[in-house]
Amino acid sequence: MRFDIISVLPELLESPLNHSIMKRAKDKGLLEVYLHNLRDYAPGKHRQVDDYQFGGGAGMVMKPEPISDCIEHLMAERSYDEIIYTSPDGQRLDQALCNRLSMKQNLLVLCGHYKGVDERIRQKYVTMEISIGDYVLSGGELAAAVLVDSVGRLIPGVLNDETSALFDSFQDNLLAPPVYTRPAVWEGMSVPEILLSGNDKLIDEWRHEQSLARTRERRPDIWEKYVGGD
Ligand code: SAH
Repeated sequence: MRFDIISVLPELLESPLNHSIMKRAKDKGLLEVYLHNLRDYAPGKHRQVDDYQFGGGAGMVMKPEPISDCIEHLMAERSYDEIIYTSPDGQRLDQALCNRLSMKQNLLVLCGHYKGVDERIRQKYVTMEISIGDYVLSGGELAAAVLVDSVGRLIPGVLNDETSALFDSFQDNLLAPPVYTRPAVWEGMSVPEILLSGNDKLIDEWRHEQSLARTRERRPDIWEKYVGGD
């Protein structure tokens, strides 16, 4: 799977995508991430990518031409399953969307800055708009990093234990159960006895019960979906 990411600050993405699971995914050849600096497509000595807002008001807007040139350049080389714009007014990223995106081959991600991109870019090129939550970031790079990480780890073969992603929170509309490691007693607190029993069936049942209880208590919204079966 391949991500192409367009940004005015590609440096922001280098570290998050070059360690741990993302690095392993790349080393295994399962994930490719290419960063494209929008300024390389901006003309003039100043490589200007933003301009004043029509209608007045504070804040700059990203100009359409460099973005268009960059997207056209990339589209001439391959076709994209989706052209994604990271935006607070987009569809909220959740595990179901991550699952769907993990089955794609080529995704192009456009990171906004300042007040965002000229609306006509969204009309002409963008096929999907994704928000990582109801808050405003200074730029789309952190959202793009979240997207690549959450989608990339679902590509088969990326995680060592292939089944482990299946037991993560949200994967079955439930939150994950609590987890423990050694020592069995720490600061006077013991690990639940059942986890030391060696009885896989009872352990599975206990974990499932914990997931149910946790979801019911903490996330009634997800719980409703689970009991509603959608
Ligand atoms: N004026 C815009 C926010 C611009 S923030 C508004 O109020 O909607 C600058 C850029 O950061 C955006 O163009 C977008 O690419 C990115 N961004 C900010 N918040 C985000 C979020 N919650 N999810 C995804 N991207 C976000």
